[in-house]
Amino acid sequence: MSIHLENIAKHYGRGGRHQALAPLDLDIQQGELIGLLGPSGSGKTTLLRIIAGLEAPDHKPAGRILFGERDVTQLHVRDRRIGFVFQHYALFRHMTVYDNVAFGLTVMPRRQRPSSGEIRARVHRLLEMVQLEKLAGRYPAQLSGGQQQRVSLARSLALRPDVLLLDEPFGALDAKVRQELRRWLRHLHDELNFTSVFVTHDQEEALELSDRVVVMSDGRIEQIDTPEALYRAPANRFVFKFLGDANHLEGEVRDGVLTCGDARLDVDLPDGPEDLLLRPHEVALDTAPRESAHLPVTVTAISPVGAEVRVELAADWLPGPWLATVRHADFERLTLSRGQRLFALPRRWHRFEDSAPAAHDSAALLAG
Ligand code: ADP
Ligand code: MG
Repeated sequence: MSIHLENIAKHYGRGGRHQALAPLDLDIQQGELIGLLGPSGSGKTTLLRIIAGLEAPDHKPAGRILFGERDVTQLHVRDRRIGFVFQHYALFRHMTVYDNVAFGLTVMPRRQRPSSGEIRARVHRLLEMVQLEKLAGRYPAQLSGGQQQRVSLARSLALRPDVLLLDEPFGALDAKVRQELRRWLRHLHDELNFTSVFVTHDQEEALELSDRVVVMSDGRIEQIDTPEALYRAPANRFVFKFLGDANHLEGEVRDGVLTCGDARLDVDLPDGPEDLLLRPHEVALDTAPRESAHLPVTVTAISPVGAEVRVELAADWLPGPWLATVRHADFERLTLSRGQRLFALPRRWHRFEDSAPAAHDSAALLAG
């Protein structure tokens, strides 16, 4: 089921003084898995609840919500054919896993209700999909958090919703279980071919799981794109910083040289103040400066865990620490240690004006 939102806004509080959502438009394709990503308070839950019909959008401007061709703006949540999964497992504690999953089907009006044989078949199929058939007779208290969320998923899918809405569904679980459940969700989504909207404040989760990500801040949509396009071409400074670690290089450009304390970098930019941003993997380290880059730093921490080594750097001219990720080979070549004095070499940096983002490959390494 495709979803079309048009001019949807939401204000709370006396006289509607607090804006939770600025008027926004959003189109979601049939079968898409969309991630709503943003910091706490950015309006993700509000938007999800409006799609669900749990919350009404403002009357002015008069927005519209379409599911396929159907205008559902005034339609009750019960009639929208939606499945929900929330962070806190709202399983019925006095019912077995099987009964939890079957519940929605067994309470349907008799005329719509599938036969008891069909209900049994459907529940078993779902339990099989989330690999919980063996635990069908258990009670929620006898399951781990991850298993409980799998029951929630199965239960929300029992009514064959057109749209599945998930609000930080894995937020309360530990990292490894979250990873596993992401794969579950992606798998179920692809196999059953519904449309999903998934709320998270975790960039990694959104980028890994979604077909497209909607980045939100302050009740606004900052960017809608595929994970790859978001990371490669962030629309603005907010998106760049929210998607990963960012180092700042703030200073004054004069005659093609950016200066910041005793640090300097050749840049092909007009005179004036600049605040350049660099990802940790865009910072190389060496024992000597270059003609085009003189950025002295001291190593303050080293974490050689994972595919790359994370190196924390400090310097007088830096407002805060910098993070560089280097290959293990470079880590060994430089015999990195805490307290070591080195020189940072930007491979690439980014700069954002109000509307025109730009990435620059640095001359520092080429001209070395
Ligand atoms: P998120 O899910 O991104 O953390 P929310 O949609 O929950 O953000 O909230 C967006 C803004 O709306 C926040 O400033 C929040 O305080 C406010 N808000 C959300 N729900 C209510 C409510 N029922 N009454 C008043 N303000 C609310
Ligand atoms: Mg929320």
